[in-house]
Amino acid sequence: MTARAANDLDPFWMPFTANRSFKAQPRLLASARDMHYFTPDGRPILDGTAGLWCVNAGHARQPIVEAIQRQAEVLDYAPTFQLGHPLVFELAARLGMLFPADIDHVFFAGSGSEGVDSALKIALAYQRARGFENRTRLIGRQKGYHGVGFGGISVGGLENNKRGFLTLPGVDHLSHTLNLEEAAFSRGQPAWGAHLADELETLIVEHGAETIAAVIVEPMSGSAGVIVPPVGYLERLREITRRHDILLIFDEVITGFGRVGGATASETLGVTPDLLVCAKGLTNGAVPMGAVGVRGEIYEAVVNGASAPGIEFFHGYTYSGHPLAAAAGLATLDVYETEGLFQRASDMAPYWQEAVHSLKGLPNVIDIRNLGMVAAVELASRPEAPGARATEVFHRAFDEGLLIRVTGDVIALSPPLIISREQIDELVGRLADILRNTP
Ligand code: PLP
Repeated sequence: MTARAANDLDPFWMPFTANRSFKAQPRLLASARDMHYFTPDGRPILDGTAGLWCVNAGHARQPIVEAIQRQAEVLDYAPTFQLGHPLVFELAARLGMLFPADIDHVFFAGSGSEGVDSALKIALAYQRARGFENRTRLIGRQKGYHGVGFGGISVGGLENNKRGFLTLPGVDHLSHTLNLEEAAFSRGQPAWGAHLADELETLIVEHGAETIAAVIVEPMSGSAGVIVPPVGYLERLREITRRHDILLIFDEVITGFGRVGGATASETLGVTPDLLVCAKGLTNGAVPMGAVGVRGEIYEAVVNGASAPGIEFFHGYTYSGHPLAAAAGLATLDVYETEGLFQRASDMAPYWQEAVHSLKGLPNVIDIRNLGMVAAVELASRPEAPGARATEVFHRAFDEGLLIRVTGDVIALSPPLIISREQIDELVGRLADILRNTP
């Protein structure tokens, strides 16, 4: 065994990270409060990304911290297999009231990826329960990100995440809706692109509706670089899926909990799916948790409609409904409610839109996209070096006290919903300076 220093960076195999370059030049975060992270030497970093799209109420919020501390002393862990604890039932009921229309039953998981795989399995279980055993096909979308489980990468459409891994059979994909020629610099939902939903009709003709269980999309794609749904697109997907008796799953892992104004994107955009996956903002990122909201009819068919006694759905996780996550979730929902953060996001969105679109015309900026409190600034790629320019901007921003996120050459911004106008000006102003100085 080799001796290692306590602060050796090598043993941690970092996720979605260029490990070698990070470890040669680490960027460490030591603490956080409200809108800022702090480095080990105490340097503040303005958080332009809510961590990883999850800290919607800002960092280390006292009511959430206290709820987790209290719960750790009272009930640190309890299984939810054939047992229960009060908070998880309460959280399910609260979410049922928050989700749209009749999405009033909740299955818990430990993350967004687990939530997605759970949703896909629930969709298949529902089809089987109704006697449609042949409805097993799943339809995703190019550039979709649904986490990293085998189900999620199969319905997802990011090639780097799939290449070299086996994926599920019987999966097909719609085209994505990003088109800079038609819709660059759109403010909010682009006017162009609703017709791309009609591709679903083509896939239905090809495969037969009677073989398709569900369609899964992010109402707004986040990880692929912020792809805002064209006006009318989601409505059309909803209409086609309903007409062909196919389930529609919205992956709201990013868009849930005020990110695009409203409790969910479904609510904001006025399109209700049959299943809704969430995570991240559910606990303000403080304790890992994912959840799948389902329409009462789905629960009814799989659970109350089961022909045999005993377990109705052979699926679940050790940490489904973990007590600390449930406590964090309830405290988070309280903070959202008492501070009116969804409304705040909705009220702030026009100011945010104006601010981010002021970056138009800066060097290499080829598109700016936004929805709610999300924005993307796409940069032209350097010849032969895709992603290099945005990565340089990311490094410079961090060195200058600003956290942004980059995917390829897209800069994504999604600050905590408590951000003030002054902090928006600071974030956008500093990013503008960096863009001016990045060749
Ligand atoms: N789905 C979407 C839309 C996401 O953005 C993410 C993560 O960013 C996931 C699923 C996966 O969530 P997790 O990383 O918690 O597994």
